[in-house]
Amino acid sequence: MAQAQRITPRAQEFSEWYNDVIMQAELADYSPVRGCMVIRPLGYRIWELMQRALDDMFAATGHRNAYFPVFIPMSFLAKEAEHVEGFAKEVALVTHTRLKATGKAGAGAVAVDPSSALEEPLVVRPTSETIIYAMFAKWIRSYRDLPLLLNQWCNVVRWELRTRLFLRTTEFLWQEGHTAHATEQEAEAEARLILGIYRRFAEEWMAMPVLTGVKTESEKFAGALRTYAIEALMQDNKALQSGTSHHLGQNFAKAFGVQYQTAAGGLEHVWSTSWGVSTRLIGGLIMTHSDDHGLIAPPKLAPVQAVIVPIWKTDQERSQASGVGDQVKGALGKAGIRVELDLRDNVKPGAKYFEWEAKGVPLRLEIGPRDLAAGQAMVARRTGGKSPVKLDGIAAAVTKALEETQAALFAAAQQRREEHSLRGATKQQFLEFMKGPGGFVYGGFCGGGACEAAIKAETGATVRVLPDPEFRSKEQPKTCVWCGKPSVPEAVWAQAY
Ligand SMILES: [Zn+2]
Repeated sequence: MAQAQRITPRAQEFSEWYNDVIMQAELADYSPVRGCMVIRPLGYRIWELMQRALDDMFAATGHRNAYFPVFIPMSFLAKEAEHVEGFAKEVALVTHTRLKATGKAGAGAVAVDPSSALEEPLVVRPTSETIIYAMFAKWIRSYRDLPLLLNQWCNVVRWELRTRLFLRTTEFLWQEGHTAHATEQEAEAEARLILGIYRRFAEEWMAMPVLTGVKTESEKFAGALRTYAIEALMQDNKALQSGTSHHLGQNFAKAFGVQYQTAAGGLEHVWSTSWGVSTRLIGGLIMTHSDDHGLIAPPKLAPVQAVIVPIWKTDQERSQASGVGDQVKGALGKAGIRVELDLRDNVKPGAKYFEWEAKGVPLRLEIGPRDLAAGQAMVARRTGGKSPVKLDGIAAAVTKALEETQAALFAAAQQRREEHSLRGATKQQFLEFMKGPGGFVYGGFCGGGACEAAIKAETGATVRVLPDPEFRSKEQPKTCVWCGKPSVPEAVWAQAY
């Protein structure tokens, strides 16, 4: 009981709620290092399930995993001008390689050994374009070496001042894809292919609907020709950029001398892409689905999909209920369902319910003496509702309930997003909408940086994407929502994480 009360209601203070959900579910914790988090086993399991699904999709489209060093020579960052501009303010540097004992006591017992200063400091990777292109320059010789399609699962460090668990931390986990192609069209197709994979993953696995589109010049990745993104709307009506795919043009190829011999014998720079999603997705998952009782995990990414809680008073009842619980566990496990059997003696059933609810388990199977007599279990859904299910053939019923939950979560999130989307907005409506509950605003945009900056200053909203055709309004706006000049594309604005 006390556990559920430790979660601040969403309506009261969303960011407190978010932290409480993470703490109660034991997904992550603050670490002794400011800005860095510890991902606890349940949170890490979600990440592993995400990794597995994404990795299969990358492999199925011809990408292979590799690993590059965590350290990058500082001079590498200077080679691509825009890139250095984008990352210079948040890099961690290694300048020395040794400590020495001082003979003093306490914190002063060790000090930096000045004689160990590195000739060239090393940057702890904020992203790996530079070191990967240095290697591409060595590996790519001819058109026969293309396309080169690599991915890396790793950690990166960006020195953040204001951090939030999963959403913005100094060190985080991610994957970064890096590809090289012979032509601009192939690189464009690759950037688009990955955007589609990210969208499919967000929608089919996370049950998180996303908008896809291209970023404006001011929001694109430092050093990219253009950046595509998936954008989701959280329950507080702020947008979460959940994945990006960049067409890098020939910028990095020129900076790092990545050239290939064409079939005709000429020499050309490669066209490249880079793309990534991170542990930020876990924050997106939490803020899309969870409620005031704690985490709601979409079944496909739930570390535990069903928990069996036998209920007993006497020893005989305990032995019966746990025996049947064990059989059910076996049947569900055989059907590929991730299942736990909670036989703890020292925790009451009600407390177990609260705990598993806080941890986001989609289904709870209660088996008490009356259920045993009726040959059934009571199946309670994390999203609400409880009904008896016959023990005979229970695996099929549980599988179906998980599929229904997955679909219902997606439908609910999509409905919420559409209810908090304003199309064809006037300037006045835009201002009121952003002062109120907020959400996605669709409107005409002149494409001008001045309007973009003015809107940001006045409303806190940024252009999330210039949406792909599928997401555009039926009636395309003719004038810029802000300045009234002709609209070049339709844009989607929101306040964002
Ligand atoms: Zn304008």
